[in-house]
Amino acid sequence: MNELALNLDTYPAYIYDLPGLENHVRTIRAAVGPTQLFYAAKANPDAEILRALAPHVDGIEVSSGGELAHVRKTLPDIPLAFGGPGKTPEELRLALTADRIHVESPNELRNLAALGPADILLRANLPLDTANAALAMSGPFGMDEDALNECARLLAGNPNLTLRGIHAHLASGLDARTMLDLAHQIAEWALPWLKAHEVEEPELNVGGGMAVDYTSPETLFDWETYATGLQSIPAKVRIEPGRAITAYHGWYVTDVLDVKTTRGETYVILRGGTHHLRTPVTKGHNQPFKVLTATGPTSPATLVGQLCTPKDVFARNVPVPPLNPGDVIAFTMAGAYAWNISHHDFLMHPKPTFHYLR
Ligand SMILES: *Cc1c(COP(=O)(O)O)cnc(C)c1O
Repeated sequence: MNELALNLDTYPAYIYDLPGLENHVRTIRAAVGPTQLFYAAKANPDAEILRALAPHVDGIEVSSGGELAHVRKTLPDIPLAFGGPGKTPEELRLALTADRIHVESPNELRNLAALGPADILLRANLPLDTANAALAMSGPFGMDEDALNECARLLAGNPNLTLRGIHAHLASGLDARTMLDLAHQIAEWALPWLKAHEVEEPELNVGGGMAVDYTSPETLFDWETYATGLQSIPAKVRIEPGRAITAYHGWYVTDVLDVKTTRGETYVILRGGTHHLRTPVTKGHNQPFKVLTATGPTSPATLVGQLCTPKDVFARNVPVPPLNPGDVIAFTMAGAYAWNISHHDFLMHPKPTFHYLR
């Protein structure tokens, strides 16, 4: 990565390590065993990344008509799961080509029933006990028991729609043991419910959200523990991680434009900004980084971009060696929810270029 990063004609740039990504997903694939592995495209839908992942996953989870069309074009034959709130009639029509549709509400189910045959999972929002309740997926996602029962009644009169199981995206940023505990709570409710509604070979999609620790890039989610624990659930279990698959193999590389000290604080001003890499702002962390061109005794500085807002901060008060204009910095862990969640057009700076290690 360093060699490519130092020989670029222009900064900023995104670099994706495709062989590294393949090794990583191969390890996850081996660890999860019989559990079905889908990749959540919203973490990073870059076509090269999708193609690198495709041989190692059972399918792709998409959350919009746009993602569906993009993944279909990139990987015409891969199985898709279609989820997400507020699906339009056009999206539901497109979704009919997916392997599974995750239905979010009774209204959505009624709209889908009018369109044609589909295999569905009902997305549940169950009252679960979490050690870390603050991270639970609150919001307009899924259905409580009443709405799920309403769906069951609607399904009873609809030969078009085949209920296959329950979907639940538990929470974001949980460790393997907490996640496993939640998955078992879901199964304890879902499997008897599915049985009562005569679903044979029940399926359980327990979503994504596996923890990625930006303060400790070496600490990976314990896939082995999670998947081993999932095997005691008597159902076809599927997971759909995004971040924990692609976060580690992307870098945002850029150069120093200016270094200044004002009111006692040293700022390193970098080409680009959080309109290209919004992750540290959305997650409220310091984006981990490596200085590629300078060494020496470190002192604290705040790494910022070119945007005219005090929020344009990559990392605050972090130790850096002496830096000068032209020095090159690579932000690590920029492979997920990075470029594609950023507000690219704010201030109309040039876009980064994209490069792939192959
Ligand atoms: C966002 C999302 C995922 C992926 O979550 P990660 O935190 O990236 O693993 C999976 N399933 C659903 C329904 C989602 O909304």
